[in-house]
Amino acid sequence: MEEIVKTPGIRAIDSRTVMYGVFGDPIGHSKSPLMLNRAFEAAGINAAYAAFHIRPGTLKDAVAGIRALGYRGVNVTIPYKVEVMEYLDEIDEGARAIGAVNTIVNENGTLKGYNTDGIGYVRSLKDETGVKLNGAKVLLLGAGGAARGIVYALAKEGAARITIANRTAEKAVELAADMSAYAATEGIGTAGLDSRQLTAADIVINTTAAGMSPKVDELPMDTELLHGGILASDLVYNPRITRFLREAEAKGARIHGGLGMFIHQGAYAFEYWTGRPAPVEAMREIVERSLAE
Ligand code: NAP
Repeated sequence: MEEIVKTPGIRAIDSRTVMYGVFGDPIGHSKSPLMLNRAFEAAGINAAYAAFHIRPGTLKDAVAGIRALGYRGVNVTIPYKVEVMEYLDEIDEGARAIGAVNTIVNENGTLKGYNTDGIGYVRSLKDETGVKLNGAKVLLLGAGGAARGIVYALAKEGAARITIANRTAEKAVELAADMSAYAATEGIGTAGLDSRQLTAADIVINTTAAGMSPKVDELPMDTELLHGGILASDLVYNPRITRFLREAEAKGARIHGGLGMFIHQGAYAFEYWTGRPAPVEAMREIVERSLAE
């Protein structure tokens, strides 16, 4: 207890403190406690946010614990974003379409699940680049969990066309079919990419794990195909500037890194829980400082 109270950025916990947390496995690397505790402090809210290592087979009990202990909100991360949906009372429309929940709000014992990953990404992209998404043509690399949220959020912003390219082509085709109710989508294998798709695209987004530390030399596509008229965006934020973004920049492209998505998915969760605007700059500052250490 003494250690918690002494940790910079966390105020004293008392009998009125509202409790929050994140469920995942593993969880020891998570920057969410640092970021959300800083957010509560900056906003002057008496709340605390902890990381919970949820072992396989215990998620149902952990979710029941949110109700029993009166936690106001919980984030959910890998590998539980899909399974957790079984244990909630309500699922927001977007989270249902995406098929994953990363934020739970406890409304007097009723647990509602949301997904803030895709909308967090879109807010970061718009804030940091000023790009207009309505009518945009997007080439999205990858077809995993993060891709699903982003395709849905881009569709809601009015993207004119979303081409999904994945190493495993079948997964791209499947995701394109799942999202075809929301936007014009197509799925292809990354190996089949050529200059036509790149010439047609306004934005290319890497949602794959390629390039993430320690495999920093991996690329999600043949970067020779990139050109100066494109905006290149990467979800990976460790390293802050990936090889993909460096090579895109060398071709004259504008670039956008993944840290803002992490900040804004947390900012949306904060807003759902508290009904107040998130102190985004304070959140960004503490995460940047921690990544630089
Ligand atoms: P996931 O569900 O496991 O999906 C991984 C995707 O990456 C699949 O499409 C996979 O292709 C592809 N992939 C993996 N390694 C690859 C490689 N070496 N070359 C080409 N493609 C590769 O993972 P996820 O949850 O979607 O996360 C994907 C990435 O986004 C991770 O790097 C994660 O850190 C990042 N992310 C960032 C944020 C943020 O806040 N900035 C949030 C969420 C995720 P196959 O289908 O062919 O295997």
